[in-house]
Amino acid sequence: MPHINSLCAKEPHEPRTTQPHVLPLYATSSFAFENIDEGIAIFSNQKEGHGYSRYGNPTVDAVAAKIAALEASGTGLEAAGLLFSSGQAAVATMLMGILKSGDKILTQGNLYGGTTELFVKIFQPMGIETILTDLHDLEHVEDLIADDPAIKLLYFETPANPTLACVDIAALAGIAKRHGRYSAVDNTFATPYLQQPLRYGVDFIVHSTTKFLNGHGNSIAGALVTTHTAQMRMGGGIWQAMKLAGTNCSPWEAWLVHNGMKTLALRMDRHSENALAIAKFLQNDKNVVQVNYCGLPSHPDHEIAKRQMSAYGGMLSFELAGGLEAGIRFMNRIKFCTLAPTLGDVDTLILHPASMSHVAIPRQIREANGITDGLIRLSVGIEHVDDIVEDLTQAMK
Ligand SMILES: *Cc1c(COP(=O)(O)O)cnc(C)c1O
Repeated sequence: MPHINSLCAKEPHEPRTTQPHVLPLYATSSFAFENIDEGIAIFSNQKEGHGYSRYGNPTVDAVAAKIAALEASGTGLEAAGLLFSSGQAAVATMLMGILKSGDKILTQGNLYGGTTELFVKIFQPMGIETILTDLHDLEHVEDLIADDPAIKLLYFETPANPTLACVDIAALAGIAKRHGRYSAVDNTFATPYLQQPLRYGVDFIVHSTTKFLNGHGNSIAGALVTTHTAQMRMGGGIWQAMKLAGTNCSPWEAWLVHNGMKTLALRMDRHSENALAIAKFLQNDKNVVQVNYCGLPSHPDHEIAKRQMSAYGGMLSFELAGGLEAGIRFMNRIKFCTLAPTLGDVDTLILHPASMSHVAIPRQIREANGITDGLIRLSVGIEHVDDIVEDLTQAMK
């Protein structure tokens, strides 16, 4: 029998037990091998298994595979997924895995702000240039790509913040494919429950799982899904970038994402239903000069959204008459909705970009991206819709 101090230090865990019903949380940095041969086989990719959790972890892998399965569901395609420490880490790792110095990214000006900053402040000085254009102009996009073989990635986001502008996934993925370039889409706002970009031929899908996939606002993580499965397996380019840059997701964060995802379908149905009702209510309010919701037939991209989404999700924005002053007064009167700089949670979150998230950005640049002084962004939750409407009504008085 070992001594008592040895007993304190030793692992009591016997992995073979009755099958757990719920995904176990593998809070372990490493995995013990039966013998040296098993260790060699796993590290040289001869045998499936785990060695060190930065390379892969059973909890993280299970959640990544589930997100890939959701994205591929009903498409007949085979897809692989990886999870990362954040949505930003997912985008950065994808770029590290598929691009090199001298390559260029073609994208839109109204991406999630952090993504634009990542491209311009981090990757541009390393020799990967970003070109911004209007991705609604398909002919121009095709001309740019045809004329510049250095453009290796066409990157887009649909629907996009804060105007819910949508772009045509099938058309853009088709252009990229015709010219032998990659396409990638940020599917955070829609989630695979409402929009499956793999159906339309896109190569890569990124998610901030922090938002709707988790849905409960209790973890930061990101996902990448692709049909280029070899990129994601041990030894593949993106897997290698994750392993070497250490952008992997922690098992605890992955476990929280999975817990939230179980109700994704129910939540997205309710988010969409509530948001459409609120968009219609706002459209009829005299204090509101403009409502941006891609589910409204009056939205300029409604036809595109209708083609590629099954419903329109929980995000919307609206423009108050009375500009900055009206926006600040409205925000100060809000009681039921929560002022918080995130989105996709089960409860309704409200943001006044001009005084909050975009306060440091010059007005001219803000306005060019649709962020006017009176613009309010709403992440509509799953509460009773009347409680949300009542709050908006009293705040507008
Ligand atoms: C939040 C967000 C991101 C960044 O995700 P993090 O998890 O915060 O790193 C990227 N894209 C979109 C559309 C987002 O809303």
